[in-house]
Amino acid sequence: MAHTGLLQRLNCQEYKNWMKAGQCLLLLKKSLQEFVASEMRVFHKQLSSRIPPPKAKCQCKAKRMQFNPRCPVCVEWKNHILDHHTNRNGDVHWGNCDPSMWSGHYWEVAKAYMPRGCTDKKEPQACDASALLNLLTTCDRFKGPDLSKVREVIKCRNELMHSSDMKVSSAWLKDFGNKIQNFVSEFRHVPGLKEEGSKIQAVLLSNWAILEQSMDTYDGVTLECDAAVSLSPICDLEMLMIDEMLQELYYQLEEVDTLSEKDLDSVQKMQNFISEHKDLQSFFEADIDKLALLLKKQTELKVGPNQE
Ligand SMILES: [Zn+2]
Repeated sequence: MAHTGLLQRLNCQEYKNWMKAGQCLLLLKKSLQEFVASEMRVFHKQLSSRIPPPKAKCQCKAKRMQFNPRCPVCVEWKNHILDHHTNRNGDVHWGNCDPSMWSGHYWEVAKAYMPRGCTDKKEPQACDASALLNLLTTCDRFKGPDLSKVREVIKCRNELMHSSDMKVSSAWLKDFGNKIQNFVSEFRHVPGLKEEGSKIQAVLLSNWAILEQSMDTYDGVTLECDAAVSLSPICDLEMLMIDEMLQELYYQLEEVDTLSEKDLDSVQKMQNFISEHKDLQSFFEADIDKLALLLKKQTELKVGPNQE
C-alpha cells in the first residue's frame, strides 16, 4: 500500500476543498488572461501616444515600492501610470517593472498595477489569479463593474493561500463559489468567462474521490470523479499551490525582518506538513531547508545574538 499516505491526504475533505478552490482560481485566471492582455495593449497604446519616445538609453531602476526616475521619459511614464492608479497614494510595487521597457512592452506597464512578486512575469500567462484580479481593481481602465465583487474573490484567494494547514471547510468553499459566481456575472462582458463559470461550478460540485485499485491504472492509483481530471493533474495542482504559498512567504520575508508569532506558527506548520509526506518532501527538499534556516534565523532574532 505504497500510496496510503497520499490517498489519505488527497481524500481528506478539507484538503480537497482547498485544492478545488485552487483549481477554480486557475480556471478563472485562464479565462481572464486574454481579456486583460487585450485591454492592457489598448491602454498601453493610449499612454504611449501621449509620451515622447526615449531619445537615449534609459538606465532607470525601480526597487520594491521605490522609484525615482532619472530620465524625462520615465518621469512621464510614472506620472501617467499614477494618473490611472486607484491606489496612487498607497503601495505601488514599482519593483515589478523594468522602466526602460515601458515604451515598448505593454506588460511592463501592467505590472505597476499588480501586487509584489511579479518582476519576472513577462506575460499575462505567467501571472497568477491574484496578479490579474488586483490589476482589475487598481487600474482604472477596468472601472465600470462593481469592483467589490473582485475584492471579495481576492480576499478569499488570500485566505486560501494563508491557510497554513492547507484546509478549508465545505461552508467556506460554498461561500467562495458564490463569490466567484458574483464576479462572473459582474464581468459577463469578458469573452468566455460565463462558460468558465460553468466549469468552475462543475469543479465545486465534483467529488474528487481517489481510490486505490489493483488494476493497471496510473501508478497503481485510479481517480474517480465527475470532473475530467486524473491523479497526475491533481498532484500537479497540489505542487503548484504549495509552491505559490511558499513564494508568497518568501516575498513577505523580503519585506519584513521579523515575523509575527502567527506567521512563525504558519511557517512551522507548512514545514511540518511538507515533511510529513514523502512525495512532497522530495519535491520540496530545497524549500524545507530554506524554511528551517528561516525559522532558525527568526528564533535567533527573537532571543538575541548573545543569548542561547
Ligand atoms: Zn528611464
